[in-house]
Amino acid sequence: MSHADWTPAREAETVAVARALADGPIGARANAVAEQDVFAWDTFRDLCASGIVATGFPLAHGGTEAPMRVRVQLIETLARVCSAAASMVTGTDLAGRPIVAGAGPALAAELVPKLVRGELQSAFALTERLAGSDVAGLATVARRDGDGWVLDGVKRYITRATVADWFTVVARVDGAPGARALSAFLVPRDAPGLTVGPMQPKLGWAGVPAAEVFLRGVRVPRERLLGVEGGGMALAQDTLVRARIGHAAIALGRAGGALEMAAQWCGRRRTFGARLGEHQGVQWMLAEMATRLEASRCLMRAVADRYDRGDPEVSVHASMAKLHATDLGMQVTTDCLQLFGGNGYLREFPLERFMRDAKLNQIGEGASEIHKTLIGRHVLRAAAASRHPCLDLDAFDARMADPEPPR
Ligand SMILES: Cc1cc2nc3c(=O)[nH]c(=O)nc-3n(C[C@H](O)[C@H](O)[C@H](O)COP(=O)(O)OP(=O)(O)OC[C@H]3O[C@@H](n4cnc5c(N)ncnc54)[C@H](O)[C@@H]3O)c2cc1C
Repeated sequence: MSHADWTPAREAETVAVARALADGPIGARANAVAEQDVFAWDTFRDLCASGIVATGFPLAHGGTEAPMRVRVQLIETLARVCSAAASMVTGTDLAGRPIVAGAGPALAAELVPKLVRGELQSAFALTERLAGSDVAGLATVARRDGDGWVLDGVKRYITRATVADWFTVVARVDGAPGARALSAFLVPRDAPGLTVGPMQPKLGWAGVPAAEVFLRGVRVPRERLLGVEGGGMALAQDTLVRARIGHAAIALGRAGGALEMAAQWCGRRRTFGARLGEHQGVQWMLAEMATRLEASRCLMRAVADRYDRGDPEVSVHASMAKLHATDLGMQVTTDCLQLFGGNGYLREFPLERFMRDAKLNQIGEGASEIHKTLIGRHVLRAAAASRHPCLDLDAFDARMADPEPPR
């Protein structure tokens, strides 16, 4: 797709809108949003009214389809003050893109413009009690029934389940094994047999509640299959890549916000007759955090660029960006809290919120260990397909098979 209409001026203007929201109403209510884990409607409405939610949707359905290089800046800008706000941008994407990609024209025309305007909410329901990292364990079954299906299963940790009007449910057709048996279905909240459990209390990310979703004999007509039967994981692939880049942007935005606050604190707090920021050990801490964040930001922006160019290897690079940014985000928010001393530990200061929120980025959309596994396999595959000119393993093997006696 072409992003030619996203000129540098338009890009700067859109990022400035996000910055004004972050410095204005969204930043101002971020602490209050974190106090009670209910969906932060005011923040969501601001994001819809400003056109930020629309950047994730195609022009044909009323969106503005911003390139990923713009999206990551928007997400980072919001995460600098409020994880919930940033997660509403990435979460709308996670829940909306499968509908954009897989719904038939009539269904898409009915639903997507309303998702763009925030009149409808959707949730993405993949994870289950025994199937998180390992989707092969997915047990929700879609049993064929006439020209449709009947769904049975339980989905766990589903973000926005408490407010969603529609659910994209990934299920195993007729209980067959393997990823090819996974299909995605669109189910309305009021479908007979669908029940949403109570909000699951969690460590952080207040403002975007998660809950279990129970499916007991839920009938899905043929036109609510997203994409093709057995194409559930293929359909989710683009969504998951986008979500991983989004997690990297949230982690970096939040860590950048924590560093900004820590540096302000170090410019004011005095110990041993000097400002904290005048002690060399503190300067070095700030310098290392700033440098690592900038390096991680370069990696994330390079991945965003790959995404926009349609690079076929974007997926593994998205894993690298997510792994690096989210592990770094955890470390930086922890160290920034440390610089606030006892105050950092108090709810009165936002650092403990930033640290608690950082943890989820290391778990959601593939935990760090899973991304390490994917990257490690990629490194091995790439190495097997090439030969380093300084290393001759064939010659080494031959020598070992028929060793010369030492002279
Ligand atoms: C707040 C929240 C919101 C969420 N929102 C959604 C949502 O909207 N929709 C949705 O579908 N899901 C959602 N999830 C689920 C999330 O994507 C999963 O929690 C995540 O993928 C990890 O799966 P799991 O929790 O089952 O952990 P497990 O798969 O049980 O893994 C546990 C730990 O073991 C590690 N591990 C697993 N296998 C290996 C291995 N082979 N080698 C080394 N380490 C390994 C993992 O990295 C992890 O650290 C959400 C989760 C949370 C907490």
